[in-house]
Amino acid sequence: MGTSLRELPILEVVAPRLRPASAPVPERLPQPRYEPTPLDARPHAAEIAEWLEVAETTPLLELGARAHALRLRKAAPDVVTYIVDRNVNYTNLCVTDCKFCAFYRRPRDPEAYVLPYWEIGAKIDEAKALGAVQVLLQGGHNPYLLLDWYTGLLRYIKEHHFIHVHGFSASEIDIIARVSKLPIDRVLLELHDAGLDSMPGAGAEILVDGVRDVIAPKKIDSARWIEIHEAAHELGILTTATMMYGVGESLEDRLEHLLKLRASQARALARGRGYYTAFIAWSFQPLHTAMEAWDVRLGSGMDYLQITALSRLILDNFGSVQVSYVTQGPKMAQIALTFGANDFGSLMIEENVVSAAGTNFIMPEREMRRIIEDAGFRPRRRYQDYRLVEEDDEGCPCCVARWRLRAAHGATGAGRPVSVAHRAQGPSTPLS
Ligand code: SF4
Repeated sequence: MGTSLRELPILEVVAPRLRPASAPVPERLPQPRYEPTPLDARPHAAEIAEWLEVAETTPLLELGARAHALRLRKAAPDVVTYIVDRNVNYTNLCVTDCKFCAFYRRPRDPEAYVLPYWEIGAKIDEAKALGAVQVLLQGGHNPYLLLDWYTGLLRYIKEHHFIHVHGFSASEIDIIARVSKLPIDRVLLELHDAGLDSMPGAGAEILVDGVRDVIAPKKIDSARWIEIHEAAHELGILTTATMMYGVGESLEDRLEHLLKLRASQARALARGRGYYTAFIAWSFQPLHTAMEAWDVRLGSGMDYLQITALSRLILDNFGSVQVSYVTQGPKMAQIALTFGANDFGSLMIEENVVSAAGTNFIMPEREMRRIIEDAGFRPRRRYQDYRLVEEDDEGCPCCVARWRLRAAHGATGAGRPVSVAHRAQGPSTPLS
């Protein structure tokens, strides 16, 4: 059941990004032309050239072996971790019209919804009963929801549930800031204070604006995505980073994406507060999307293994690389565990976004553990910051520390316990 929506002028606040473009892309062109930026005009051009040579001249199995050797040094060699959580898509109403998305509904579509707080709470109750230690909140860019709705939701969750809240991608943060007419750091601070514990890396797609202009022209650009993550890191908020490939991008684009992330992580680690915990790549799933008819080369299994291996090698300052069994299937995920990945991602009790595009590899926990064991590793449950779940835990350790400190200082926000736990803990796996 959805709540009633207030009437707000939508187009006024969510006009498409304006970017000078040499070759504007018509809105309804079924096969848009995309001209990749010349290598020497790209950021990180020299490193892209080096990695391009590695990618093009190294046999895939050798690339995987190199990545696996690094993974064995960076994470417990015999363990593959995963987290038990539930995705809650609090709204599917969105005005950003990404051409790769099958999940969203436009305003006034009868299927558009906003979940009321109680229904989100009921989903969390179900998830906790199944052992979930985290809820992932993600939704469309809903211009009817102001910052107060989000802070109200977070306070409601924290009042009724002791659970880690991982939520709101950079582009959701951007839309909250735009409709609420507030700066990003204020929005992040208020969300964090109300109960947001960490942030997912969704919305990155390919962090190259030439690609974004074709597949998601209304979405934030790559610099804004990075700016928002770095603002979160500044507050001590841990985030993840993602890539959705197979949307017509070049190998240079993928490498530029990874090198931008490595540079951003280097800045985060130098500041010593929040940072990226993990990188996750998945391939574009075309069914039911506007891009279904486009003539783009979709990601192959070989692409997935190459991206996994390259991400492990290039992101040598990231602690973890996750597989995406939801898009690649369990067998490919097993192989990826020897191509640089050390984490199986989340046991999603509910998932609506990828499944809307026709892909559904959701599995029960015992099956996930069997798949990990069959690949030669010990499965271990973890928390969002990659600490392992132990039997005598009181709950998510970062939340325990954060909310104990809050209780000690009162609930007014004085002595706000933002990054204390993470500063003390640091990355969960050694960083080079
Ligand atoms: S990917 Fe997100 S922002 Fe883009 S259309 Fe879908 S719900 Fe909206």
